[in-house]
Amino acid sequence: MISRIDLRGDASLENGIDRDLLPRAELDVEAALEKVRPICDDVHHRGTAALIDYAERFDGVKITQVRVPAEALDRALAELDPAVRAALEESVRRARLVHREQRRTDKTVTVVPGGTVTERWVPVDRVGLYVPGGRAVYPSSVVMNVVPAQEAGVPSLAVSSPPQRDFGGLPHPTILAACALLGVDEVYAAGGAQAVAMFAYGTDECRPAQLVTGPGNIYVAAAKRLLKGRIGIDAEAGPTEIAILADATADPVHLAADMISQAEHDPMAAAVLVTDSPELAEATEAELKTQVAAAKHAEDRIVPALAGKQSAIVLVDSIDDGLKVVDAYAAEHLEIQTENAAAVAARVRNAGAIFVGPYAPVSLGDYCAGSNHVLPTGGCACHSSGLSVQSFLRGIHVVDYTRDALAEVAGHVVTLAEAEDLPAHGAAVKARFAGGEPKSRSG
Ligand code: NAD
Repeated sequence: MISRIDLRGDASLENGIDRDLLPRAELDVEAALEKVRPICDDVHHRGTAALIDYAERFDGVKITQVRVPAEALDRALAELDPAVRAALEESVRRARLVHREQRRTDKTVTVVPGGTVTERWVPVDRVGLYVPGGRAVYPSSVVMNVVPAQEAGVPSLAVSSPPQRDFGGLPHPTILAACALLGVDEVYAAGGAQAVAMFAYGTDECRPAQLVTGPGNIYVAAAKRLLKGRIGIDAEAGPTEIAILADATADPVHLAADMISQAEHDPMAAAVLVTDSPELAEATEAELKTQVAAAKHAEDRIVPALAGKQSAIVLVDSIDDGLKVVDAYAAEHLEIQTENAAAVAARVRNAGAIFVGPYAPVSLGDYCAGSNHVLPTGGCACHSSGLSVQSFLRGIHVVDYTRDALAEVAGHVVTLAEAEDLPAHGAAVKARFAGGEPKSRSG
């Protein structure tokens, strides 16, 4: 069901790992770009009419409006199962605890007397938050998008999620309820690339946003890549991945359960176990067989995800070598199930989020750890972070120098301007000292 990769004694572990040896989905976002380009252009030119057409084509439902009416949000919250409401409220409470602490404060540095640079953190004016709803529905992604945006102080935020055939073309009622719970009243029934295009270009119903965040499938990732620049985006958060670094002390029942928990997202999801214990590899493989047989989404998602090229059990000689493998893989979610797990976790350099020891499964992070679950996939964790309050802020440098402070450094500015053959730059400084006191001065 799951392939094996044997890296014991592999020379590449000494000289830098050949990433092609590691399992990864053949997720061709570049190829998907060609598919989503006409969709995005169409939404640009035809707006709501195009969104209505794509709802029928991709989501199989005829809708007449894309904006979700306020009554539907109120009704969804009123009808929400009280146990789900309590769980969502706890998820929100924990996420707020963590994300509130991420808010950076403005800092002013006095470079010289009379010369300061302040870094001022300003939220973007408007964000579009994507909440997936194709194979599974993700009210938890409402929490993970909305809480950091609210904690950042974003004044205007809108959510979009695919229209559901079973719910009259509205997004799933639990998604609507989660929006209402968080005070979000602007919600759209649009999925995939067309939702990203709606936020980027705007329509008669939806004002354009400056930033689009949120996880999604390959079409969502491709549209974000295509429209990046016109809009800001978070990291590409595509089909989910779990990597586990484990030694002989790990429990194969836990490992198999955690691998299956992520494989149930998507047939493109990845589950990778890296271990120095051939016995643990055997036992986990046997457990996978047992647990998959009893799993709900086995046929359509879990088996294809585990059997796919993107999933594997990787054998290494030591946990030190295992660390090299997981760093090269740069997983979205990385579990450390070893002796001294915290010390091993502290040595990891590349991961979207790290889950330490036997009592921090990825499912905890998906819902209720307080951490964010919108995380970089496909190896992007080697250069990008998960969603946070920071994702919604821009740092603006405010430069404030007095005449004396500028005079002190004017010679250096002129010298550097001449070295770059940009004499007008130097002239702009000299002009301030050519004719006595300037007309306006700071400080
Ligand atoms: P989705 O909402 O991302 O995609 C559904 C939409 O895809 C549909 O509304 C449709 O518009 C579009 N679509 C479907 N087939 C298409 C086609 N042939 N051409 C063009 N567009 C098409 O929902 P999903 O498909 O369930 O995917 C959700 C993904 O999000 C999963 O892979 C899951 O693993 C991932 N996820 C990732 C994170 C993360 O942080 N990395 C978190 C949660 C979920």
